[in-house]
Amino acid sequence: MQEASKSEAKLIGLAMLAGLIVGLILYFTGTGEYVEYVKPIGTIFVRLLKMVIIPLVFSSIFMAMFHLGTPEALGSMGRKAVAYYFITTVCAVFLGIVFVNLINPGVGADLGAAGIHGLNSTMQQKVTSTQGLWSTVIGVLVDAIPTNPFASMADGTVLQVIVFAIMFGIVALYLPKESEAVIKFMKSLEAMTLRLTHVIMKFAPIGIFVLMLDVMAKTGFDAVISLSKYMATVILGLACHFVILLLIAAWRLKKSPAFILKSLSSPLLTAFSTSSSAATLPITMTTVEENLGVRKDTAKFVLPLGATINMDGTALYESVAAIFIAQAYGIHLGIDKQIIVFMTASLAAIGAAAIPGAGLITMSIVLGAVGLPIEGIGLILAVDRILDMFRTTVNVFGDCVGTIVVDSLLEENDFQEDEPEGEVVTP
Ligand code: ASP
Repeated sequence: MQEASKSEAKLIGLAMLAGLIVGLILYFTGTGEYVEYVKPIGTIFVRLLKMVIIPLVFSSIFMAMFHLGTPEALGSMGRKAVAYYFITTVCAVFLGIVFVNLINPGVGADLGAAGIHGLNSTMQQKVTSTQGLWSTVIGVLVDAIPTNPFASMADGTVLQVIVFAIMFGIVALYLPKESEAVIKFMKSLEAMTLRLTHVIMKFAPIGIFVLMLDVMAKTGFDAVISLSKYMATVILGLACHFVILLLIAAWRLKKSPAFILKSLSSPLLTAFSTSSSAATLPITMTTVEENLGVRKDTAKFVLPLGATINMDGTALYESVAAIFIAQAYGIHLGIDKQIIVFMTASLAAIGAAAIPGAGLITMSIVLGAVGLPIEGIGLILAVDRILDMFRTTVNVFGDCVGTIVVDSLLEENDFQEDEPEGEVVTP
């Protein structure tokens, strides 16, 4: 692990702690509104990170395709990555369902749910339509295909940009001569955006300090107390999943869990304070390569894709939240409905954008599929910002571990040299 990134991570950690303490002081002294004066600093930091996402994702995925050398090698990496995403997402949702059924945080919870929405036997018997599930799957797939890649870039629709970059990269493999100029351009674009990320990271401590300050100074502690059992269930599930991922990473890398945590502290703390996997992506990409020695091309492919579709933390949270809402309304979800929750929570996590609060929005997919009222989201709204910090950290960690696992499963000859046989990128 490099000295510079070690001290950077330490500074970020200290900044987060300071933001937490000062934010709590402001909250308890009733002076939280003063945060507004410094809030733009946090907003600027997040905007700077977002600024590099599209050029970084586009150029990195394209260059990773090019280095993979053949569509077969891409297929091999793609299959391994998707298998990892699938297994870990399923494991996360399963853990969520187990914990929420063991703890039953919503049973007897006095949140005014039944009173407000008057849940009754009609709601209880509402038939679950599997057609909704199928159309959700198709919807996610269709939405991934861009109709205008430039518009996708302008809108920041990362998944569509990834699909275009993969297809464009494959074409470059077949047309090395004709794509020479584009490859050169992408190489420069990638190097420049990576450098820009390093520059932006210099502002991370101050940005993260302000982001933490803002959340802490404004959080309503009354809400935290009344929803504490629900929060504890989500956080316990997330912690359990995090430990499983950590052990997998330690096993594949043959390093201690402490080393892995230390190496990944910058992206994990950034994920926690920004609540955005997308905004954290530039930091995740540079850290995984520099601190854990993962091959560049694996990181360039697995991380952007993972940040967009692999959200273990969100999947776990969606399952807990949906069952909690049912419990709070006094509705019993049988095993059949819990299976629907299981499937839709996984899909909702894939469909969630890597931005703050996205998981809360896609909750409507899960609630709708089991016939629960969308208004149920209102019950958990007050503490969602805090839970978002925890689930985003697990999302980002899941992507990092995915990169480690996929990289460890690939052979050296799955990659090709930078300038293969001299036919491309001639000066
Ligand atoms: N904020 C999460 C992320 O960026 C998504 C979510 O809201 O669950 O990963």
